[in-house]
Amino acid sequence: MTFNDLGLSPAILKALDLANYTSPTPIQREAIPAALTGRDVLGCAQTGTGKTAAFSLPIIQLLSKQNVNRNGKRPIRSLILTPTRELALQIYENIQVYSKFTGIRSTAVVGGVSQRSQERALALGADILIATPGRLIDLIAQKHADLQQVQLLVLDEADRMLDMGFIHDVKRIIAKMPAKKQTLFFSATMPQEISQLIKTLLVNPVKIEI
Ligand code: AMP
Repeated sequence: MTFNDLGLSPAILKALDLANYTSPTPIQREAIPAALTGRDVLGCAQTGTGKTAAFSLPIIQLLSKQNVNRNGKRPIRSLILTPTRELALQIYENIQVYSKFTGIRSTAVVGGVSQRSQERALALGADILIATPGRLIDLIAQKHADLQQVQLLVLDEADRMLDMGFIHDVKRIIAKMPAKKQTLFFSATMPQEISQLIKTLLVNPVKIEI
Protein backbone atom coordinates (compact mmCIF):
# COMPACT_ATOMS: atom_id res chain seq x y z
CA MET A 1 0.00 0.00 0.00
CA THR A 2 1.18 3.54 -0.77
CA PHE A 3 0.08 7.00 0.43
CA ASN A 4 -1.73 7.32 -2.94
CA ASP A 5 -4.29 4.79 -1.73
CA LEU A 6 -5.29 6.78 1.35
CA GLY A 7 -7.18 9.61 -0.36
CA LEU A 8 -4.56 12.30 0.19
CA SER A 9 -4.27 15.36 -2.06
CA PRO A 10 -1.50 15.87 -4.66
CA ALA A 11 -0.01 18.71 -2.54
CA ILE A 12 0.40 16.41 0.45
CA LEU A 13 1.65 13.48 -1.65
CA LYS A 14 4.32 15.75 -3.11
CA ALA A 15 5.51 16.76 0.38
CA LEU A 16 5.61 13.11 1.53
CA ASP A 17 7.58 12.17 -1.54
CA LEU A 18 10.07 14.94 -0.81
CA ALA A 19 10.39 13.68 2.78
CA ASN A 20 11.08 10.17 1.43
CA TYR A 21 8.01 8.60 3.01
CA THR A 22 7.27 5.68 0.71
CA SER A 23 4.64 3.61 2.49
CA PRO A 24 2.26 4.40 5.34
CA THR A 25 2.74 2.79 8.75
CA PRO A 26 -0.09 0.62 10.17
CA ILE A 27 -1.63 3.44 12.22
CA GLN A 28 -1.46 5.78 9.23
CA ARG A 29 -3.25 3.19 7.05
CA GLU A 30 -6.16 3.06 9.43
CA ALA A 31 -6.35 6.56 10.89
CA ILE A 32 -5.94 8.66 7.74
CA PRO A 33 -8.93 7.35 5.73
CA ALA A 34 -11.13 7.32 8.86
CA ALA A 35 -10.25 10.91 9.80
CA LEU A 36 -10.72 12.08 6.20
CA THR A 37 -14.37 10.94 6.35
CA GLY A 38 -14.90 13.18 9.39
CA ARG A 39 -15.04 10.40 11.98
CA ASP A 40 -13.61 10.67 15.49
CA VAL A 41 -10.58 8.43 16.02
CA LEU A 42 -9.38 6.68 19.15
CA GLY A 43 -5.81 5.46 18.68
CA CYS A 44 -3.92 3.33 21.13
CA ALA A 45 -0.35 3.91 19.95
CA GLN A 46 3.11 4.89 21.19
CA THR A 47 5.56 7.41 19.81
CA GLY A 48 7.59 5.90 16.97
CA THR A 49 4.56 4.35 15.23
CA GLY A 50 4.07 7.30 12.90
CA LYS A 51 1.11 8.71 14.81
CA THR A 52 2.11 12.32 14.19
CA ALA A 53 1.51 11.95 10.46
CA ALA A 54 -1.57 9.82 11.19
CA PHE A 55 -3.32 12.82 12.75
CA SER A 56 -1.53 15.70 10.97
CA LEU A 57 -2.08 14.64 7.35
CA PRO A 58 -5.89 14.43 7.53
CA ILE A 59 -6.04 17.74 9.43
CA ILE A 60 -3.93 19.50 6.79
CA GLN A 61 -6.06 18.04 4.01
CA LEU A 62 -9.44 18.82 5.63
CA LEU A 63 -8.44 22.39 6.42
CA SER A 64 -6.85 23.11 3.06
CA LYS A 65 -10.06 22.04 1.27
CA GLN A 66 -12.06 24.78 3.00
CA ASN A 67 -12.41 28.23 1.49
CA VAL A 68 -11.02 30.81 3.87
CA ASN A 69 -10.32 34.51 3.62
CA ARG A 70 -6.55 34.53 3.27
CA ASN A 71 -6.42 38.31 3.70
CA GLY A 72 -8.11 38.45 7.08
CA LYS A 73 -6.71 37.14 10.36
CA ARG A 74 -6.85 33.37 10.34
CA PRO A 75 -8.85 31.76 13.10
CA ILE A 76 -7.44 28.67 14.79
CA ARG A 77 -9.30 25.83 13.06
CA SER A 78 -7.36 22.98 14.61
CA LEU A 79 -5.76 22.52 18.01
CA ILE A 80 -3.21 19.83 18.85
CA LEU A 81 -2.56 19.36 22.57
CA THR A 82 0.51 17.43 23.63
CA PRO A 83 2.24 17.05 27.02
CA THR A 84 5.77 18.33 26.44
CA ARG A 85 7.62 21.13 24.68
CA GLU A 86 9.78 18.59 22.82
CA LEU A 87 6.74 16.76 21.43
CA ALA A 88 5.04 20.04 20.48
CA LEU A 89 8.08 21.28 18.56
CA GLN A 90 8.50 17.92 16.85
CA ILE A 91 4.86 17.95 15.74
CA TYR A 92 5.25 21.55 14.54
CA GLU A 93 8.31 20.65 12.48
CA ASN A 94 6.58 17.65 10.94
CA ILE A 95 3.54 19.75 10.04
CA GLN A 96 5.79 22.33 8.38
CA VAL A 97 7.12 19.55 6.14
CA TYR A 98 3.72 17.98 5.36
CA SER A 99 1.93 21.29 4.68
CA LYS A 100 4.67 22.87 2.58
CA PHE A 101 2.60 22.98 -0.63
CA THR A 102 -0.82 23.67 0.91
CA GLY A 103 -0.75 27.25 2.22
CA ILE A 104 -1.69 26.04 5.70
CA ARG A 105 -0.06 28.05 8.48
CA SER A 106 0.76 26.58 11.87
CA THR A 107 2.38 27.78 15.07
CA ALA A 108 3.42 26.26 18.39
CA VAL A 109 2.98 27.62 21.92
CA VAL A 110 4.93 25.93 24.70
CA GLY A 111 6.02 26.72 28.23
CA GLY A 112 9.53 27.48 29.41
CA VAL A 113 10.27 30.10 26.77
CA SER A 114 9.30 33.75 26.35
CA GLN A 115 5.59 34.26 25.69
CA ARG A 116 5.99 37.44 23.64
CA SER A 117 6.89 35.88 20.29
CA GLN A 118 4.06 33.38 20.74
CA GLU A 119 1.64 36.27 21.30
CA ARG A 120 2.86 37.88 18.08
CA ALA A 121 2.45 34.65 16.11
CA LEU A 122 -1.10 34.25 17.44
CA ALA A 123 -1.89 37.85 16.51
CA LEU A 124 -0.90 37.04 12.91
CA GLY A 125 -3.18 34.00 12.98
CA ALA A 126 -2.67 30.30 12.35
CA ASP A 127 -4.81 27.50 10.93
CA ILE A 128 -3.24 24.89 13.22
CA LEU A 129 -2.08 25.54 16.78
CA ILE A 130 0.17 23.02 18.54
CA ALA A 131 0.29 23.61 22.29
CA THR A 132 1.22 22.35 25.71
CA PRO A 133 -1.70 22.82 28.14
CA GLY A 134 -0.20 25.22 30.73
CA ARG A 135 1.01 27.89 28.30
CA LEU A 136 -2.20 27.68 26.28
CA ILE A 137 -4.31 28.26 29.42
CA ASP A 138 -2.29 31.45 30.09
CA LEU A 139 -2.66 32.67 26.51
CA ILE A 140 -6.43 32.03 26.53
CA ALA A 141 -6.84 33.82 29.88
CA GLN A 142 -4.96 36.84 28.49
CA LYS A 143 -7.11 36.76 25.31
CA HIS A 144 -4.21 36.02 22.98
CA ALA A 145 -5.76 32.73 21.85
CA ASP A 146 -9.37 32.14 20.86
CA LEU A 147 -10.61 28.57 20.32
CA GLN A 148 -14.16 29.31 19.22
CA GLN A 149 -13.50 28.39 15.59
CA VAL A 150 -11.80 25.06 16.33
CA GLN A 151 -13.25 22.24 14.24
CA LEU A 152 -10.56 19.62 14.74
CA LEU A 153 -9.00 18.67 18.08
CA VAL A 154 -6.10 16.30 18.65
CA LEU A 155 -5.22 14.98 22.09
CA ASP A 156 -1.77 13.45 21.78
CA GLU A 157 -0.39 11.22 24.56
CA ALA A 158 -3.47 11.82 26.70
CA ASP A 159 -2.28 9.40 29.40
CA ARG A 160 0.97 11.33 29.76
CA MET A 161 -0.95 14.59 30.10
CA LEU A 162 -2.86 12.89 32.95
CA ASP A 163 0.38 11.67 34.59
CA MET A 164 1.88 15.15 34.37
CA GLY A 165 -1.11 16.70 36.12
CA PHE A 166 -2.51 18.47 33.05
CA ILE A 167 -5.91 16.81 32.94
CA HIS A 168 -7.77 19.76 34.52
CA ASP A 169 -6.08 22.19 32.17
CA VAL A 170 -7.03 19.94 29.26
CA LYS A 171 -10.67 19.91 30.36
CA ARG A 172 -10.68 23.69 30.77
CA ILE A 173 -9.25 24.09 27.27
CA ILE A 174 -11.84 21.72 25.80
CA ALA A 175 -14.59 23.82 27.42
CA LYS A 176 -13.40 26.82 25.36
CA MET A 177 -14.11 25.04 22.06
CA PRO A 178 -17.35 24.37 20.23
CA ALA A 179 -19.00 21.10 21.31
CA LYS A 180 -19.41 20.11 17.67
CA LYS A 181 -15.97 19.18 16.37
CA GLN A 182 -13.96 16.22 15.16
CA THR A 183 -11.60 14.71 17.72
CA LEU A 184 -8.57 12.50 17.18
CA PHE A 185 -7.55 11.00 20.52
CA PHE A 186 -4.28 9.16 21.16
CA SER A 187 -3.19 7.42 24.32
CA ALA A 188 -0.81 4.51 24.87
CA THR A 189 -2.78 3.34 27.92
CA MET A 190 -6.39 3.84 28.98
CA PRO A 191 -6.58 4.53 32.73
CA GLN A 192 -10.05 5.25 34.13
CA GLU A 193 -9.83 9.04 33.95
CA ILE A 194 -8.87 8.78 30.30
CA SER A 195 -11.76 6.39 29.54
CA GLN A 196 -14.07 8.88 31.24
CA LEU A 197 -12.79 11.74 29.10
CA ILE A 198 -13.15 9.61 25.97
CA LYS A 199 -16.80 8.92 26.83
CA THR A 200 -17.63 12.60 27.14
CA LEU A 201 -15.57 13.73 24.16
CA LEU A 202 -15.71 11.15 21.36
CA VAL A 203 -18.74 10.27 19.22
CA ASN A 204 -18.76 6.75 17.78
CA PRO A 205 -14.97 6.73 17.23
CA VAL A 206 -13.05 4.47 14.89
CA LYS A 207 -10.86 2.50 17.30
CA ILE A 208 -7.31 1.68 16.28
CA GLU A 209 -4.94 -0.44 18.29
CA ILE A 210 -1.33 -0.83 17.20
P1 AMP B 1 6.15 9.47 15.23
O1 AMP B 1 5.70 8.15 15.79
O2 AMP B 1 4.99 10.23 14.66
O3 AMP B 1 6.91 10.27 16.25
O4 AMP B 1 7.13 9.21 14.01
C1 AMP B 1 8.37 8.58 14.16
C2 AMP B 1 9.35 8.92 13.02
O5 AMP B 1 9.01 8.22 11.82
C3 AMP B 1 9.40 10.38 12.64
O6 AMP B 1 10.76 10.74 12.47
C4 AMP B 1 8.65 10.46 11.32
O7 AMP B 1 9.14 11.51 10.52
C5 AMP B 1 8.92 9.11 10.70
N1 AMP B 1 7.81 8.60 9.87
C6 AMP B 1 6.49 8.60 10.17
N2 AMP B 1 5.77 7.99 9.23
C7 AMP B 1 6.63 7.58 8.27
C8 AMP B 1 6.50 6.89 7.02
N3 AMP B 1 5.30 6.48 6.58
N4 AMP B 1 7.61 6.64 6.30
C9 AMP B 1 8.82 7.05 6.76
N5 AMP B 1 9.04 7.70 7.92
C10 AMP B 1 7.95 7.97 8.67
